[in-house]
Amino acid sequence: MGKRIVVIEGEDAAPEAMRPTLELLDHLDLGLEWLRPEVTDFEACRRAIDGSDASFFGATSGRSAGVIFYLRWGKQTFANVRPIRWFPGCASPLRDPAGIDFVIVRENLEDLYVCAEGDLEELRSSGLRSSTAGRELADLAPGAFAVKVITEAASERVVRFSFELARQRRAAGHRGKVTCSSKYNMLPKSDGLFLKVARRVAADYPEIDFESFIVDDFARRVVATPQDLDVVVLPNLYGDILSDAAAGVIGGLGLAPSGCYGEDYAYFESAHGTAPDIAGKNVINPTATILSAVLMLEHLGFADAAAGLRDAVEAVYADGAALTPDQGGSASTTSFCDAVAARI
Ligand code: ATP
Repeated sequence: MGKRIVVIEGEDAAPEAMRPTLELLDHLDLGLEWLRPEVTDFEACRRAIDGSDASFFGATSGRSAGVIFYLRWGKQTFANVRPIRWFPGCASPLRDPAGIDFVIVRENLEDLYVCAEGDLEELRSSGLRSSTAGRELADLAPGAFAVKVITEAASERVVRFSFELARQRRAAGHRGKVTCSSKYNMLPKSDGLFLKVARRVAADYPEIDFESFIVDDFARRVVATPQDLDVVVLPNLYGDILSDAAAGVIGGLGLAPSGCYGEDYAYFESAHGTAPDIAGKNVINPTATILSAVLMLEHLGFADAAAGLRDAVEAVYADGAALTPDQGGSASTTSFCDAVAARI
């Protein structure tokens, strides 16, 4: 049966990666129907999203921001899944990137992204104290604060999602391990709660190994021993930052796909932003976008087509003749996509 997919191309260089990716998907002839609401018409976008099977999103620098807020908070897509996998031909800066194959699961809805900020003076009546400065926060004014929110329920659902993913990956031959990280030594209540929940959930999955690291130590491990990782679960901010760092380890932002999953909806977008500095040049690496489409096809039940598209991308990298400038090549975005199409 055909699937209905909302397409939001995004801004700056994002449409240059999205358009040829959509052509590749059309080439697969899966009966996918593209819904293209006007991004500035929020009601039209909301209706289209509510009536669709998934959304496919280019990055936004602001114009489509209302849509992304609805896709994330409106549809409660709480798990941002960011696979980090090196394959031959990707321009990793590491001496030996072979075997890097892990998934970062970033909590997608809370933490500092509740975006509640204010002036320190506003905390005067609360009496809230800094345990390190040993004074009331308001006494540190003038200045500003931001609130970090970690709830038990949101932590539990993203941790459970991660263990289920580790279980699936284990069945497919992966190690079967979940790594949790946060700054639980400095923030025992908030980041500590995330870890506490992870430890509790881990007990329900005895066949999955569990480990935890303080986030600064974990950042070093991402660079020094990435092959040791399988599934990584992180609160929102650390997940945002460290998934870009992890993309750097395999060869850059142009390679990193992502999917955001809720209980009953999912949308897919590359992990990178709109790359405004290369807009209009037809050189953006569409790999992250194409691999996001692969995640979307898997989600929609087109496993064979997804595998075929992924294999075609990998074949282009193995060949090396049609890579974009970020991977050390001189091919345009469209000629990279033509090379992928030729291998499907
Ligand atoms: P955001 O805050 O939305 O994540 P940003 O401005 O921090 O966006 P990006 O838009 O991801 O960051 O770009 C960061 C750098 O990486 C830019 O120099 C950009 O050109 C480069 N870049 C990002 N994505 C790609 C890509 N797919 N191909 C080539 N270069 C890319």
